Amino acid sequence: MPDQVKLEDSLRKLSGIGPHRVQLFEQLGLGTIGDLLFHFPRRWEDRNIQPTFNNLSPGIKATVRGWLMGGDERRPRPDMTISSFNLRDKKGNTIGLVFFNQPFRKGQLNRGREIIATGKVEERFGQLQMNNPKVETTIRSNSLHYGRIVPIYPASKGLSSRLLRTAVHAALKTCNSEIKEIIPPGIRKRHQLFPRAAAIREMHFPTDWKALRRARHTLAFEELLLLQLGILQTQANINGISHQPDGELVAKFLANLPFRLTQAQERAIIELARDMEGTQPMNRLLQGDVGSGKTIIAAYALVKSVENGYQGVLMVPTEILAEQHYLNLCHLFKPLGLDVTLLSGSITGPVRDKIGENIRCGKTQVVVGTHAVIQEGVEFANLGVVVIDEQHRFGVSQRSHLLKKGDNCDLLTMTATPIPRTLALVFYSKQNVTILDELPPGRRPVKTYWIGERARPRVYEFLRRQVLEGRQAYIVCPLIEESEKLEVRAATELLASLRERVFPELRLGLIHGKLALVTKEKIMAEFQGGKIDILISTTVIEVGIDVPNASIIIIENAERFGLAQLHQLRGRVGRGTHDSYCFLLGAPSTEEGKQRLEAMTKTSDGFRLAEMDLKMRGPGELLGTQQSGLPVLKVANLIDDIVLMDGARKEARDILLQDPTLRAPEHIALQQSLPDLFGSNWHRRRA
Ligand code: ADP
Ligand code: MG
Repeated sequence: MPDQVKLEDSLRKLSGIGPHRVQLFEQLGLGTIGDLLFHFPRRWEDRNIQPTFNNLSPGIKATVRGWLMGGDERRPRPDMTISSFNLRDKKGNTIGLVFFNQPFRKGQLNRGREIIATGKVEERFGQLQMNNPKVETTIRSNSLHYGRIVPIYPASKGLSSRLLRTAVHAALKTCNSEIKEIIPPGIRKRHQLFPRAAAIREMHFPTDWKALRRARHTLAFEELLLLQLGILQTQANINGISHQPDGELVAKFLANLPFRLTQAQERAIIELARDMEGTQPMNRLLQGDVGSGKTIIAAYALVKSVENGYQGVLMVPTEILAEQHYLNLCHLFKPLGLDVTLLSGSITGPVRDKIGENIRCGKTQVVVGTHAVIQEGVEFANLGVVVIDEQHRFGVSQRSHLLKKGDNCDLLTMTATPIPRTLALVFYSKQNVTILDELPPGRRPVKTYWIGERARPRVYEFLRRQVLEGRQAYIVCPLIEESEKLEVRAATELLASLRERVFPELRLGLIHGKLALVTKEKIMAEFQGGKIDILISTTVIEVGIDVPNASIIIIENAERFGLAQLHQLRGRVGRGTHDSYCFLLGAPSTEEGKQRLEAMTKTSDGFRLAEMDLKMRGPGELLGTQQSGLPVLKVANLIDDIVLMDGARKEARDILLQDPTLRAPEHIALQQSLPDLFGSNWHRRRA
């Protein structure tokens, strides 16, 4: 008896697959029989044979069987042939089959021959017909390609769905008994899962639609269970820093705040304290809409760590924001005698060396910076807490690079881009989430208008009046994906024309990413200090910038921005107690673009906008798998499978509670399957 073929074996072990085809399969990433079995159809088609033609209706796709009656070939133009045939069922009903530019059909489809045809049924002059149907001339009682629900695989060069069907079928036949259960029986029963081998078989060649649904349910559940196990397991039992309860320094910090904390902020601080004082490293996400006051929570974490003799670092995505946070923290921390420093890409040479030295020897207690803080050569004496602001702008690897500068230190990430619940369950299932669901008192929603070019002069007049009343404004120039240089030029030109023709009497400023840090600092300080009335800017002001006196923002070519970005930009105003306004100038050419601008005028709720964004663009766009560090899911869908996800998460928690390392015999198979989903290095991630 030959050796049993294994799932890890090469596809060559399957009959009918030679070296050439093996290569084609490899191009699809399919090297082994197991890979092939997990290469699932993109969709399925009902190709059960209709017994007679009289209940066929136009518009549906159908598979029919009958006898050819006779044909006819026309050449309306020299470069075109039309071959038509009549097909008759056993009751005498007929349907036309029409082929364009397939002259070989004349020789193939002989009168009297019995065939099977699949195609879309159409009606022409009262007669049913199919155009360019798929035809089978040898009829089998048990075919893979008709007479059943047929899988359609993602198209690829040289490998037709037909060939894939045959190969998958061969694989199932050879290896069915090799497909082992990985989910313990109790869970299988609770969630009404198919046996694994049956699920895989039904996924490819479903008995009926109901069985297909259950097969999909089974495999999606399996995938989500592994996902949750992987994520939850990496968290288990690392010893971190146990900070002491708040002492004098923190008390002084809290007593000196320039405002009273909102209740949401107070809750957040309590949760943070509990995490930081615990033995496991903190891993908390702080989610709060623009303007909800996240910075002060970050400051709390930093000062608490300093009080315990550690250093803290705050990483942000742009230089302008780093500068702003730096000034802010200096304000809060200098009276407490803390040593705070700024580190960004444009700080170089001896100055930078000195900063590096101070961080290394522990003299500097708090570092604020851009991703410059994760570069090599930046070493901390004793890092206690890492805070990442606007964390959606960073990738997983940047996050873990920063964490590696310390030894299991605490992590606080912050974002104003809310993650809808489904995604939160995946991305943050090992993270604790705090939500700031309250804005500081006195805030009113920003009045938002979507306007066309014709309204521009009126908006400028309105802006002028606001400035005369003492307010300030932003005008944001269009995003130009391809080139920051063009973006800068557009902003420069806008400044010149506004200065000359529209607002000669007002004080205008310009800021963009290409300016030197000192220049940026100077301009932001002038704007902050009320010495600039209107700040013309590229998207560098998108995140975090906080000038409460600014009450108007005009966004040029608003159709070029995504919803999340528009919401962030709008968040630059409405941060004080004045009435605030956002004008979206734009003429979207797509339906989706219109919906976006429409949505902005209707709601100021970041969560609602994020959900709309997710619906319009899908999670890939919103978070990007690369960005998220998530494995690619083959069956489960992060938007639709929320209920399954909940179930899988609960089971994963229970399993890990009894058996944190998945060593028990009934869990070994799960443990061994984790690398299939996450790749072999998955357990090294901590994010
Ligand atoms: P975001 O959550 O967008 O990062 P910030 O931390 O920048 O928000 O805070 C927005 C503005 O609100 C800042 O000017 C900040 O000083 C102010 N602020 C924060 N908390 C409060 C509060 N409890 N009461 C009044 N103003 C506050
Ligand atoms: Mg912020």
